[in-house]
Amino acid sequence: MSTVSQSRGVGTEEDVQVFGRLFIGGEWTQPHSGRLIESVDPSTEQVWAKIAEADEQDVDAAVAAARDALSGPWGRMSGSHRGALLLKLAELLRRDGDALAEIESRDNGKPVRDTRGEMLRSADWLTYFAGAADKIRGAQIPVNPDAHAYTVRQPVGVVGAILPWNSPISLATWKLAPALAAGNTLVLKPAELTSASALVLARLIEEAGFPSGVVNVVPGYGAIAGARLAEHPDVDKISFTGEHRTAQQIMRAAAGNLKRISFECGGKSPYIVFADADVDRALSVAVHSGFRSTGQSCSLASRVFVERSVYQDFARKLAERASRIRVGTPFDPKTHIGPHSSAEQLAKTKDFIEFGRGAGFRLLAGGGRPPGLDRGYFVEPTVFADVDHTSRLAQEEIFGPVLSVLPFDSEEEVVAMANGTRYGLVGGLWTSDVTRAHRIASQIETGLVSVNTFRPILPMLPYGGFKYSGIGRENGMEVLDEYTETKAVYIDLSVESPHDPFAD
Ligand code: NAD
Repeated sequence: MSTVSQSRGVGTEEDVQVFGRLFIGGEWTQPHSGRLIESVDPSTEQVWAKIAEADEQDVDAAVAAARDALSGPWGRMSGSHRGALLLKLAELLRRDGDALAEIESRDNGKPVRDTRGEMLRSADWLTYFAGAADKIRGAQIPVNPDAHAYTVRQPVGVVGAILPWNSPISLATWKLAPALAAGNTLVLKPAELTSASALVLARLIEEAGFPSGVVNVVPGYGAIAGARLAEHPDVDKISFTGEHRTAQQIMRAAAGNLKRISFECGGKSPYIVFADADVDRALSVAVHSGFRSTGQSCSLASRVFVERSVYQDFARKLAERASRIRVGTPFDPKTHIGPHSSAEQLAKTKDFIEFGRGAGFRLLAGGGRPPGLDRGYFVEPTVFADVDHTSRLAQEEIFGPVLSVLPFDSEEEVVAMANGTRYGLVGGLWTSDVTRAHRIASQIETGLVSVNTFRPILPMLPYGGFKYSGIGRENGMEVLDEYTETKAVYIDLSVESPHDPFAD
């Protein structure tokens, strides 16, 4: 699976795979600095791969290649042809999905049964936007009988796509698919923790037949490669997924040439259960929605609000279910959740758990290292009840498997708490009262609200955040607005000479 060569382990008995080249302008090039990033397998704490590290000069070369590609065959290609290339890429991703899933599971520790599913879903994203590529249209605008006015939608140009480590291929296709459907070119910078799969994806992009320079892949550190992309005067737009503090830095850097920006950032999603709901169903969905991916998801149901009459019972059952979640290594088919992706992420989660204990919140499940897992960045699924809503446990994004459960007495109270964080990504609501469902859905300040389910994420459904959770939307036909400029064209049809106000 190595892109260029394989070498034996670095201080380990395991093979270390080397992904030693960047993908720039259709060529596999050595990184300018000659440096490699070490990627650690979070379930063994051993280096399993070394990945080419791009610096500023490599990013400059990638941006130049992406700029050139806009005026090459890609710039003259029909939408139908672009769609056909995206469909081909979807087919290749389905073909090689299992191999890519294994790479991602080694890189970020997610169970392979989850990463396999993510590859298939990523292919669905490519397929959806393949269909959109020849349907991006402007409009004829009725101005007056003596004029013909219309809009055309043109690609924004060179897009810098900056990715996080939690779902690398999936989140890459969220950007690639609509950006390419609309005719842009891209420079993709995957996260330093999980860059290997993006380089394998680049091989598939090459095999699918995209012209040289349309997609360039430059793994590297945020402060070097990411920062250069964000400030680069020849990049027209940055599409970023990650933490809001990084988004703020990117926003400042992007101001230099007034880049277009779209940001998908963190969340602290409310999950609201009314006593009139199918409470058993709400319980099973809460377990999965709260703990999947070891809590390393932006749309986690991390604040569970339960109406007081069913609160104690719900919290107890949630804790029981949490303690039955099987934590294990990603390649064990019985594993429900794997380790944290990095030692840093584990330390952050442990710090929140210690805070919860110290604050005296009721620890109903977890809180420690799972028995039998002595190596790796593992932590037990953890449930705290009676959490103070103003505390950092209920306010900050943990990005770990730690749920806060809180009671409520009225609609007004729960809506105020649900909206009482700086985030606004996803909200979930369980009730059998249809009028209440609509009433609350209209009041929740999140980009997606789900009723009697949680977080339906589909290529056709717009996704994004209010407040600190982001700017702009991904997915749905709405995302195409993020990757196109609208141009208005006005043609004067009149035959008479125009009135000349300066003639008198
Ligand atoms: P991060 O912000 O630390 O890093 C994201 C990317 O930004 C990485 O590629 C990193 O190298 C790059 N980067 C870092 N500093 C940079 C700089 N100064 N300039 C340019 N690029 C820079 O985030 P992360 O830890 O990789 O991911 C976790 C975060 O992502 C969480 O907050 C999570 O909620 C969020 N996330 C959001 C969504 C969503 O769709 N809303 C999805 C997944 C993850």
